Amino acid sequence: MAPRTPDTPTGAPAPLVDRYGRVHTDLRISLTDRCNLRCTYCMPAEGLDWLPRDQALTDDELLRLARIAVHRLGVRTLRLTGGEPLLRRGLPALVARLAELGAELSLTTNGIGLARSAPELKRAGLHRVNVSLDTLRPERYAALTRRDRLADVLAGLAAAQDAGLAPVKVNAVPVRGVNEDELVDLVQFAVDHGYRMRFIESMPLDAQGAWDRAAMLTADEILAALAARWPLVPVGRPGNAPAEEWRLDGTPHVVGVIASVTRPFCGGCDRVRLTADGQLRNCLFATAESDLRALLRGGADDARIERAWRDCVARKAPGHRIGDADFVRPDRPMSAIGG
Ligand code: SAM
Ligand code: SF4
Repeated sequence: MAPRTPDTPTGAPAPLVDRYGRVHTDLRISLTDRCNLRCTYCMPAEGLDWLPRDQALTDDELLRLARIAVHRLGVRTLRLTGGEPLLRRGLPALVARLAELGAELSLTTNGIGLARSAPELKRAGLHRVNVSLDTLRPERYAALTRRDRLADVLAGLAAAQDAGLAPVKVNAVPVRGVNEDELVDLVQFAVDHGYRMRFIESMPLDAQGAWDRAAMLTADEILAALAARWPLVPVGRPGNAPAEEWRLDGTPHVVGVIASVTRPFCGGCDRVRLTADGQLRNCLFATAESDLRALLRGGADDARIERAWRDCVARKAPGHRIGDADFVRPDRPMSAIGG
């Protein structure tokens, strides 16, 4: 139960609901658009034009929006992401302040630096982490991320597990001709270490605009590769989670597949996203944003910000329409939205 503060309205917050009856309880917060890797399916080798620091929300601004989300809009889950969220200065202190809101708090990271920060983040109140890892082979990792940092990620995963940031989830984006031959190895690695493996279909959200549907491994292909090694028992989708899950038969281990492209789950979507520069997005694929930073910096009170937030969610489209002929990619890439 979230603690109440003097400016919290009394009673349970009215749900954050859109025209289709979808209730939004999950807020993804991008802490920065910067990154220390250059994953080929995400951004170009030279990086991007990072956000000038004065345009990014300060900790106080971010905290205020998160408090409005939890206390006035019924958000129950806060997920910190980026860019690379571990690059945010003073992250443990920010996590500690966010944890006071009482929501479930998780972090999606590439794992670089996690070996050092995991215990401190756990003490600050972080509940769990998702770590991105597309390959277990050092040369391949260096080619895919354009940085030779596999050992750091493996150490980060182990540290997260030791710190109790559980369940530790491992996210991989399988790409044809890149890591498609490693799906079984990745699952076996997760099983051996007590992590939970999830595969994500690649999406047209790379900064270069080079996404190629033919290079995307589909959920069906991922499952076929795994089924050749383990009989798979469908478990379904826990709540509104984007991942559909399968149990490796005869074991307690579960594998998830996030099939945004071939098995869209828009009908059950419960997410809103806040970019590092304070723009609210009602969908990863939205082509419009609501400028909450302008409201914050213009002196708006909480009720005004709550109204803008509800209006933004009310305008949410029924689905992302990736497969449609008139599909329009959002202006921002995944790394600047917060994946
Ligand atoms: N830097 C952190 C990381 O890599 O986990 C957090 C941000 S990253 C954008 C979040 C997730 O989005 C990662 O699991 C990454 O693999 C995934 N991702 C990035 N670009 C993608 C794309 N074009 N399609 C699908 N997933 C993508
Ligand atoms: Fe960085 Fe994450 Fe994008 Fe890789 S996927 S370049 S780690 S933001």
